[in-house]
Amino acid sequence: MNDNSSKAHSDPIVVWMRDDLRLDDNPALAAAADTGRPVVPLYVLDETSDGIRALGGAHQWWLHHSLDALARSLRGKGTELTLRRGAAKGELLDIIAAVGATALYFNRRYDPAGRAVDDRIAEALGAAFDVRRFTANILHEPDEVQTTTGGYYKVYTPFWKKLSASEPRDPIDAPAGFKQPEDFPRSDNLADWALLPTKPDWSGDIAEAWTPGEKAALERLETFCNDDLAGYHEARDNPSADRTSGLSPHLRWGEISPYRIWHTVQTYASRRQSIPDDAIRTFKKELVWRDFNAHLLHHCDNLTTTNINKRFDAFPWRRSDADLRAWQRGLTGYPIVDAGMRQLWQTGWMHNRVRMIVGSFLTKDLLLDWRDGERWFWDTLVDGDAASNPAQWQWVAGSGADAQPFFRVFNPVTQSEKFDPAGTYIRRFAPELAELPDKAIHAPWNASDETLAKAGVRLGETYPRPIIDHKAARERALAAYSEIRG
Ligand code: FAD
Repeated sequence: MNDNSSKAHSDPIVVWMRDDLRLDDNPALAAAADTGRPVVPLYVLDETSDGIRALGGAHQWWLHHSLDALARSLRGKGTELTLRRGAAKGELLDIIAAVGATALYFNRRYDPAGRAVDDRIAEALGAAFDVRRFTANILHEPDEVQTTTGGYYKVYTPFWKKLSASEPRDPIDAPAGFKQPEDFPRSDNLADWALLPTKPDWSGDIAEAWTPGEKAALERLETFCNDDLAGYHEARDNPSADRTSGLSPHLRWGEISPYRIWHTVQTYASRRQSIPDDAIRTFKKELVWRDFNAHLLHHCDNLTTTNINKRFDAFPWRRSDADLRAWQRGLTGYPIVDAGMRQLWQTGWMHNRVRMIVGSFLTKDLLLDWRDGERWFWDTLVDGDAASNPAQWQWVAGSGADAQPFFRVFNPVTQSEKFDPAGTYIRRFAPELAELPDKAIHAPWNASDETLAKAGVRLGETYPRPIIDHKAARERALAAYSEIRG
């Protein structure tokens, strides 16, 4: 063994953490710890590299708390999280030089701009530098999943069939500890990043609804498996039941691994006969939608701005700031839409069924561009995801892969009657309607004056009249669609 290689065996490894803010089942971190060499975990808040999308407000709140939790966990294992703000390439090269690292490990990301940054950094470090990439945050690498003709899947069912035929690898336990470098590099102070809102501090309800961090993520998984997994297939579409896992923000930030989720669900299923196969299959199918979206992100040029179905490039979207604002604020006059938009604003999250309803309302009833909705979600969701957000918006709008056809226009009243029959969800998030009887709460404009008066509802004053007539809006949407249908 020559001098250089023996030195390399004691040189530090920089582990560049991105959306994988966890110790459990973190392949890059585990591989670095396994070498027995000093490990320097690093997070770079990169807002300047080409094509990297700036975080939304709700994201920033989550990220602050998640990094705080991660730093504490790492300290408990004997090392320190280094924080840097700036273009990733400059910060990484600086840190690698400062600590004398000879290796860089990280878990893969799937957005084209992020991948390009990773490639540029690897190139700048040179072929002799030990750069290792790991699969951590989705169940299957996009380039390894191909159709029989060698392309990528644009239809979900065959994608699911292909992936569900094999079991994902087992999760890896968190490292027992880390060897420290002689000196830690200079680190920013998290508080100086000013990620938390102050003027005003709008985060009170979000903080009540969520606890960022790996520990909370693992606890949420256990609670879900104990309480709600058995009935998941039946209750998941009911927004008032609140019986989905609520794991999406934890997955978004990589505080929990999809492999850990998959195998934990599997373990519960094998231990408890009371969990039906349907529940397990339905849950896994949702988890795999996340992979499907990540694969689209990987393969499409710009999922956030570009229609997958190019025909939609000519779609005659309207522009109306007033309508967009009414939708964003939950003041459309359609109770299920308004309840959803207010749940989003208050808690940073919205139930999946209601995301579909408000998405259909924006793109079809209001005929506003899906990109307007995607941007609002990106700014307000704690789980706003680079793949699932644009992919699901395109799905709703009809421009996406395996999308809901544009001509399928959700009726916000019948959707509300079907999925929130007792109006429990509406009462929670649109409390000015709480006293209306079940029959009237879905469409208050159809209620009698007496019913409205009894409930203290004055349309146009305490609650808006509908900003659009659904029947006329549906016809307008179908006419617009006929322009591009071909
Ligand atoms: P569960 O029902 O418990 O499902 C478990 C996990 O499976 C979720 O945490 C999520 O990671 C995944 N999953 C479930 N449904 C979907 C789906 N339709 N697409 C992709 N993954 C899914 N999800 C995001 O994580 N981030 C987003 O930015 C996002 N934007 C959306 C925008 C629109 C317009 C729509 C219609 C859906 C969007 N979704 C998004 C998908 C879905 O609404 C959320 O993943 C789900 O509501 C999260 O709640 P949960 O964790 O309780 O889900």
